Amino acid sequence: MFGLLKKKRSKPVVYTRPEHCISRKNIDPDALKVLYRLSSAGYTAYLVGGGVRDLLLGRKPKDFDVGTSARPNEVKHVFRNCFLIGRRFRLAHVRFGDKIIETATFRQNSQSVGEIIEHAAEGPLEDNTFGTPETDAYRRDFTVNGLFYDIKDFSVIDWVGGMKDLEKRVIRAIGDPDIRFQEDPVRMMRAVKFSSRLDFKIERKTLSAIKRRHSCILNASPPRVCEEVFRLFPYGCSAEAFRLMWETGLLGDLLPDLSKAIAETGGRSSPAWKYLSVLDTLERLRQDEGGEVSNGLRAAVLMTVMLKRPGDRPRDGASRKIMQTMLDGIKIPKSVYFTAVLLMESPVRLSRRPERSRARFIHNRDFLDALDYNRIVLRAEGADESILNEWADLYELKGKKDELVQDRR
Ligand code: ATP
Ligand code: MG
Repeated sequence: MFGLLKKKRSKPVVYTRPEHCISRKNIDPDALKVLYRLSSAGYTAYLVGGGVRDLLLGRKPKDFDVGTSARPNEVKHVFRNCFLIGRRFRLAHVRFGDKIIETATFRQNSQSVGEIIEHAAEGPLEDNTFGTPETDAYRRDFTVNGLFYDIKDFSVIDWVGGMKDLEKRVIRAIGDPDIRFQEDPVRMMRAVKFSSRLDFKIERKTLSAIKRRHSCILNASPPRVCEEVFRLFPYGCSAEAFRLMWETGLLGDLLPDLSKAIAETGGRSSPAWKYLSVLDTLERLRQDEGGEVSNGLRAAVLMTVMLKRPGDRPRDGASRKIMQTMLDGIKIPKSVYFTAVLLMESPVRLSRRPERSRARFIHNRDFLDALDYNRIVLRAEGADESILNEWADLYELKGKKDELVQDRR
């Protein structure tokens, strides 16, 4: 455990109900059920993490996590619909249909959920990894993620200065950022993610620690890094997120060829950002519709600047070579690789009219992604998209024909 936790700390700042904007009507009713049930069984029960942060910002939380003084077995005792996961540090999943309310006992170690799952095979941790609300606040990554909402009196409990940082709109590491990023380098990517998603600045010391420590990211587990890379896309802030990844050096560690291509095509004014910002518009649209953009499309757009370097001629197999650097650097799944290669090669077909055998491409299962990919590239380059409308019309016509055939059956 890092020395910081051993120091005696003062009391937390408590914001009473009138002093903050969290209303129970914005909290998921099932999360409220978990909080109330634990509380009436005599345990401390807080809403924790990103849910509290997002509610305070007036945003809709993605999920609601609960922190409690109840041990995993005690949580299981309170809920019939509860399953314990992880062997090393047990997490309780309270299930309501498809929905899961993650309920974790207060901890004192600095391990993150990702690490716990990663090390699950190593067997259970000692009991002394359980902690108090105070230690649980300090083991979290950023101050804005370390706030607790107490169901007992509806107050917000702040051990780490998160409320002030929410007001100032900054992402600040809890404790010494150099130590925290060495402990878990994925936190550097999380700083980039929250900064771009929330439009917060990364606080000066936290940012300079990322710039010093970025190469530690190569010590992190590849599946976690890959997952975090794709988490930079939702919410439509990927242009800003990857710009920060590039400026801090993180992109240079993970995808050196892409980082180089960005530098060679103008750095801050590289067309890479334009491709990503057009993708961001689509990400937001899809999110409003309740859907998501595929990782294949995201990977293809991210790497497009490498296909289009000035002076480069389209080469055979160029897309495969480019996507290979994503396989090597961040271990993307093979399925993402194959889709991305197909999308990067699709302009050969979609830049011509949908005639004769070429038109059969509309039956390909990645056709709609290909249409989106070509639109993104043309729009970013300010080029004419009318040929894509012909492909879209043909696809729509096929849909109508299929409907007719269905009706006749
Ligand atoms: P999102 O809206 O993306 O879910 P989140 O803040 O809820 O954002 P999660 O990854 O769901 O992020 O994690 C929940 C909470 O767990 C975080 O708010 C933070 O307090 C803590 N946490 C997650 N990962 C780490 C980590 N690597 N190190 C320390 N604390 C972490
Ligand atoms: Mg979350």
